Amino acid sequence: MRGGERAPEAAGDTLAYAELKAFEGRAAAVAGRGKDPVNASMIRHWCEAMGDAHPAYTGPDQVAPPTMLQAWTMGGLSGHEGRSDAYDALLALLDGAGYTSVVATDCEQEYVRALRPGDSITFDAVIESVSERKTTKLGTGHFVTTRMDVRADGELAGTHRFRILKYAPAKKHGVAGERGSAGRREAVGRRPRPVINRDNAGFWEGVAAHRLLIQRCGDCGVRRFPWLPGCNACGSAEWDTVEASGEGTVYSYVVMHHPPFPAFDPPYAVGLVELAEGVRIVSNVVGVPYDKVRIGMPVRLEFLRVDEELELPVFRALADAASEGGS
Ligand code: ZN
Repeated sequence: MRGGERAPEAAGDTLAYAELKAFEGRAAAVAGRGKDPVNASMIRHWCEAMGDAHPAYTGPDQVAPPTMLQAWTMGGLSGHEGRSDAYDALLALLDGAGYTSVVATDCEQEYVRALRPGDSITFDAVIESVSERKTTKLGTGHFVTTRMDVRADGELAGTHRFRILKYAPAKKHGVAGERGSAGRREAVGRRPRPVINRDNAGFWEGVAAHRLLIQRCGDCGVRRFPWLPGCNACGSAEWDTVEASGEGTVYSYVVMHHPPFPAFDPPYAVGLVELAEGVRIVSNVVGVPYDKVRIGMPVRLEFLRVDEELELPVFRALADAASEGGS
């Protein structure tokens, strides 16, 4: 094996770097074809989703936002013809060597010429590079960079580089299904921890005190949730809080069936609860079977002790609504 940093586990020890390097320059997609020509409808949807009102993206001289580049090449659920076997073979080789996890790390785009409605899109993709074995905080593995050349009516319009890390997870994080220590299995089965930062710390302090706190703009008085540093209505950074009364109704909900995650036991209902104070919060609806949750159902706040360090606000279906569906 090569010198330098060694993986803490056995993954990859049987895999020679030359075997991976041989994939560089091989095609990842050949003669791909965009499913739709560049068109005003997709541009409009994109701009609405991004909140981008730049005038160049409307009107008679309309161009597509450059960052839409990848949107024109996406295969959707049904995929694309022209995908080469090389990329799959490379991933299979890495899987086989124990680098079974994958994370997208970054993407770079270069824009060569503007895209306009009516342009028809073709593309090719190549496996540009496979890195030597690297150890990151996530684990040890190889970075794989693919480059897609996007053409409009046959002319190069831009390139899109996409990099993933195929890796064997560092042991300390644990992975589902791993047969480790009891403590590790326990960590795997725990509900994810909230990310607490200076913008939302006050919310979690409230939860710890069994108070559901909503931010209120110090200038215009608009209430907001989840917590944000500024007001969506007026932009002010001044705010205080109001405590939710705990009364609310189910504004909408989904029932999660898939994918299963060790800490959860599907199917279960995730509700979007509209609080009496007018803001909405995503949480679990408890005290009612998942298939009896209904839009408009009255619910009341309570605090669920999940484990020794995590407590969460959840919403209990009120007795009248819950009794309809039994316990
Ligand atoms: Zn405001």
